Amino acid sequence: MNTIEIQNLTKTYPNGVKALDNVSLSISNGMFGLLGANGAGKSTLMRTIATLQQPDSGTVTFNDIDTIKKPQLLRAQLGYLPQEFGVYPKVSALKLLDYVAILKGILNKKERRDQIEALLVKTNLYQHRKKSVYTFSGGMKQRFGIAQALLGNPKLIIVDEPTAGLDPEERNRFLNLLSEIGENVIVILSTHIVEDVHALCSRMAILANGTIIKEGKPTDLVNEL
Ligand code: ADP
Ligand code: ADP
Repeated sequence: MNTIEIQNLTKTYPNGVKALDNVSLSISNGMFGLLGANGAGKSTLMRTIATLQQPDSGTVTFNDIDTIKKPQLLRAQLGYLPQEFGVYPKVSALKLLDYVAILKGILNKKERRDQIEALLVKTNLYQHRKKSVYTFSGGMKQRFGIAQALLGNPKLIIVDEPTAGLDPEERNRFLNLLSEIGENVIVILSTHIVEDVHALCSRMAILANGTIIKEGKPTDLVNEL
């Protein structure tokens, strides 16, 4: 069982915006939904857990790792799909996944090829593997993002607002893909869409103005939304 313990995280940006205000959460295997409106602090929390950003105070512990003190130990076990993936190089999807796999420390060529092929099939991108990712549609880019995040079999997967801007069909495809990741890892899904959380998550929290205002099972919280 994997666990992540978030304790008393606080973050104020230089412009005075308090994005996180004493946030504490305990998350274990399965899919966890972080629901909140725009500006609630979701991305700040996701980036902090992903060790891309330092909090002003508070701690994050993944299994036995203090991720703020030892970010490199977390990164080896992390898959992260940021909110905006933006710019892609001109190389093919296949080549780009190969680079990412090397950076993740998968140095054996055959192992890389096997993992990449399986992920391209899983994400329904195998037939597009020789195209550049910048030519992909929004939905394809997000599926590619998941393939990239899953390389190296991470134990913690963070997806930040992954369905924003997708049409309903692409959104469903993407959510189905997320639902197949499995129960032996932690998946944290940040979103402002209540239905995404209800469809997929076994636990959830609601973030508003940098504070957790509710936490529990989506089925218990549904009537309060
Ligand atoms: P989100 O949709 O998660 O709120 P934004 O589009 O607001 O993201 O932010 C995009 C980028 O701009 C992020 O890197 C974020 O940290 C940064 N950003 C957001 N708000 C501000 C701000 N008020 N001042 C400076 N940078 C900001
Ligand atoms: P969410 O992901 O829920 O939209 P964010 O974490 O992106 O929330 O933003 C929380 C608040 O912090 C917002 O008011 C946003 O404008 C502000 N913010 C985010 N990033 C920055 C930044 N780099 N500099 C200044 N303010 C920021």
